[in-house]
Parts: sequence; C-alpha cells; structure tokens
Amino acid sequence: MKTDLINIKQKKAWWFIVAHEQIVLEPHGRFIPYGKMKELFFSNLSIKNKIKIGIFESCPCYLISLTNKIDIKLGEYKPLRSILGKVDDALFAMAGRALQLDLFHKTHQFCGQCGQKMLHIDWEFAMQCDNNNCRHRCYPRISPCVIVAICKQKQILLALHKHHYSEQQIFTNLAGFVEAGETLEQCIHREIFEESNIQVKNIQYVASQPWPFPHSLMMGFVADYASGDIKVDTNELISAQWFDIDDLPSLPNVGTIARKLINKVVNEV
Ligand SMILES: [Zn+2]
Repeated sequence: MKTDLINIKQKKAWWFIVAHEQIVLEPHGRFIPYGKMKELFFSNLSIKNKIKIGIFESCPCYLISLTNKIDIKLGEYKPLRSILGKVDDALFAMAGRALQLDLFHKTHQFCGQCGQKMLHIDWEFAMQCDNNNCRHRCYPRISPCVIVAICKQKQILLALHKHHYSEQQIFTNLAGFVEAGETLEQCIHREIFEESNIQVKNIQYVASQPWPFPHSLMMGFVADYASGDIKVDTNELISAQWFDIDDLPSLPNVGTIARKLINKVVNEV
C-alpha cells in the first residue's frame, strides 16, 4: 500500500474531486485538474478513499469523494453543468461517472435488506453488505430515459418543460423515463401520447448520452408524426407546438443529446 501511494503521488493523473454534488474545476485548460498529486493538492488531503474510475488519454482517473469542501490549490467547486459542451465528450462523461459514483457511495452506506454496513468491493463498481448471512449487493443506479425528436414534414415538435423552466424559455424534445417491464418502443409511444396526445411512427435510434443529473441514461430517437392534435399534459409541460425548422425557438445547449437530435432533424428534412 505504501508503494502504491508513492506511485500515485509521482504519476500524473486526472483528479475528479467531488463534494456536495459539485466538482473541482480549474479556471483554465481542460477544467479537470490534471497532474501529480503534490502539485495540485495541499498535503493534508487524505487520498485513502480515492477510487480509480477509468483511463483518459493513457492516464488514470481518480475519484476523491469528500464529505466537506476542502481547499484545493488549483480550481474551485462548481456544478458539472458549467462545463457542458466546453470539454470533450469523453472527459465530460468521466466527470459524470465520478459524480454518479460519489452519489452512489454516499447513498448506499447501509444494506436495504438487513440494515448492516455496506462496503466497497474492489473488482467492480458495487457496494456489498458486510453481513455474511446477507451479502446483498448494489450497483450504481442508472435510469433509462427516452428522448425523441418528432418530425412532421418541415416541422419539429418542441415543448417547454416545467422542470426546465427558466427566463430563457428553452424548448426541447419530449422525453420520459422507461417503466419496469417496458420496451423502449413502448415507452416512446406511451410518453409522447401522454404528454402531447400525438401518435408517432418510423422510430429510429440515433445515439445515447449518460446524463448524470443525477443518474439518467438518455437514449435518443427520431420519429415521424402519425396522427393526433396536440393536447398538452399540464403536469409535465407548459406548452408544446410544431416549429418550422427555419424558425426555431431557444434550444438546449450544444453538447446535449437534445440538441444533437434537433440538429439531425434540421439537417435532414
Ligand atoms: Zn445486508
């Protein structure tokens, strides 16, 4: 263990330092602190709870979960959203993984089956009950969510969501969480009909994006309008309407799967 610690202090690495659901970001460069440990941290920082979460550009990535914000030589604590679209996708995804694992560890301290202490296991990302008669094991929670760009000739259906509401009035695609026992296709038909009263056809998968706010996996699709008039579910949406692709409202940020789907529709119809 001692040799291991010395190696870590000497070797350059990416450091994902998380406290209170915020991450330490540098003001310049690639935002995520990178370098030898001693160059980045005050010497009193304990690294005994560091966890290797992957490799980026041939260098190890470490998560350090803190219960309280401590001073770091370089950088300050900020929300991960503040670098969305500003760093490359792989580095953003690694930061998302760090935040999700931090939340997972902090919310799985005790067994949901017998109440005893849960411990990390070191061969995969999981927490296991310390009770020999139980051994209940939990994995990081991931919530699958479909998001769909719906086309009707040269128009796209976009909505103002209640949970996204801001002064900017960002319009985006319809989306919803997959329910237990449901296929992605069933979820798409159900969610779109519930939220807008619209039926769709020609569903095509486009891409996915981990969305660590707090633990979604967004699965992006495009689909064509089939039938129905818009009738908004006011529990979920403020409004929904067809927009001409040449006259779009304020859209989600570059870097989001929502924007990627909208751009795909705009470029292909
Ligand atoms: Zn247990």
